Amino acid sequence: MNAPASTKQQSDFHRAERQAHVVRALGSLLPAHALLWQAEDTTPYECDGLTAYRQRPLVVALPETEAQVQAVLRTCHGLGVPVVARGAGTGLSGGAMPHAEGVTLSLARFNQILKVDPLARTATVQCGVRNLAISEAAAPYGLYYAPDPSSQIACTIGGNVAENSGGVHCLKYGLTLHNVLRVRGFLADGEPVEFGGEALDAPGLDLLPLVVGSEGMLAVTLEVTVRLVPRPQLARCIMASFDDVQKAGDAVAAVIAAGIIPAGLEMMDRPMTAAVEDFVHAGYDLTAAAILLCESDGTPEEVDEEIGRMSEVLRGCGATALTVSQSEEERLRFWSGRKNAFPASGRISPDYMCLDSTIPRKRLADILLAIAQMEKKYGLRCCNVFHAGDGNLHPLVLFDANDPDELHRCELFGADILETSVAMGGTVSGEHGVGVEKLSSMCVQFTPEENAQMLAVKAAFDPAGLLNPGKVIPTLARCAEYGKQVVRGGRLPHADLPRF
Ligand SMILES: Cc1cc2nc3c(=O)[nH]c(=O)nc-3n(C[C@H](O)[C@H](O)[C@H](O)COP(=O)(O)OP(=O)(O)OC[C@H]3O[C@@H](n4cnc5c(N)ncnc54)[C@H](O)[C@@H]3O)c2cc1C
Repeated sequence: MNAPASTKQQSDFHRAERQAHVVRALGSLLPAHALLWQAEDTTPYECDGLTAYRQRPLVVALPETEAQVQAVLRTCHGLGVPVVARGAGTGLSGGAMPHAEGVTLSLARFNQILKVDPLARTATVQCGVRNLAISEAAAPYGLYYAPDPSSQIACTIGGNVAENSGGVHCLKYGLTLHNVLRVRGFLADGEPVEFGGEALDAPGLDLLPLVVGSEGMLAVTLEVTVRLVPRPQLARCIMASFDDVQKAGDAVAAVIAAGIIPAGLEMMDRPMTAAVEDFVHAGYDLTAAAILLCESDGTPEEVDEEIGRMSEVLRGCGATALTVSQSEEERLRFWSGRKNAFPASGRISPDYMCLDSTIPRKRLADILLAIAQMEKKYGLRCCNVFHAGDGNLHPLVLFDANDPDELHRCELFGADILETSVAMGGTVSGEHGVGVEKLSSMCVQFTPEENAQMLAVKAAFDPAGLLNPGKVIPTLARCAEYGKQVVRGGRLPHADLPRF
């Protein structure tokens, strides 16, 4: 074959050569149906839930056994080929976005519940098991897995571990980190590795909290042991209306300051409730500037007492109406609106970018006012839904990704929200991870020395820098350039994501 002349043709030619090389190497390890490389087969893997940024992988591997995963990792390591683990691809920060020269390692076929132990109140599952499937398997024992991302019907426990995912009930029951006992998998070179254990504490350095939330950069998870908790006897939810977002924000801080830890404490502003109501008819008060959903669970006596105390605080903060769920059906209806907030936004705009910063609870009202100003500044609409009790914001900036100017303004809007959150004492990421989306904002959150330390931790696990390279931790060069090139026009420099 003659090498073509133009730069584009040359680059395509080299890509095809590299691809053929990797396909040959992996072809001897996997059955033919478990290896994809044709464009029409790899395109479905080109993005996760952050659809604005896309990149086709060189190859997709879909192993079915641990031995196959290990062999793929060993081979890629030997060839110096990057590997990006993928669960269900519901991530919202581009964490599973492929590497142009890498292998996307789909773990969707590891979907077995291995053991539910009602005495130890644990479940051991493969990484590709869906979050909700764990609770379904535990239900006959009166148990469930508490962290409940709104994507729980689809997202996998492997993805949850990688992102340290949260959900509406995490305020009371903790994030993924607080509900995972043990993670087993492989390092980038295929070496087996295990973090944590079934006992409450283990000898030696506790590296479990390091791997939970490491966004697929330190190890590939294959098996997870999670904690299960008893299903509460009763749960009831208050829907509280406010005529002013500031009052709603202040009420959140007041509930927690009163010493109450609700089972869920969520907030939605009017644009959000309007979008949701149109979609799932949850019964939300559309006259309210903002609503809060405050849940209590426990014994009937505990719930009665807590609902009474929360109602008192909410009224004291100026709630204009309170509706307490009178049945399990009504409670689930209230939550169905909140859980469908993201898809509801998808119905009113061609695209949305879901931000995920945190702020101190007492600054909720301030950030809402700041976001309202930014809507005017960038000429884009924004709906707000929060894990308010955790101070975790999810502003959904509405835009059209086919309009480069809108995408550009959306990126600036997003970066502004993240920077403002940091300035208010918060962080750039609450539960969706950094991925590629917030890479540049990490330069605002951390000093070059802190980012360098994180890169050193990454190098300790993965010296060749092959697992999900270029994500999460910005290079010093990127931070030096911050403000000049950030994320522009949807063209993240993903094609040349650096190795570490
Ligand atoms: C509608 C909607 C609602 C959502 N609601 C919430 C919410 O309430 N709370 C919340 O926290 N998130 C939420 N998310 C985000 C997302 O669902 C979570 O981040 C989830 O944990 C991702 O799981 P996944 O299996 O889809 O992972 P993917 O998107 O496939 O991957 C996410 C990251 O995990 C890594 N990874 C995946 N599997 C493995 C593995 N086995 N080993 C090592 N690394 C791995 C990937 O490399 C990537 O970095 C929502 C998303 C959507 C679309």
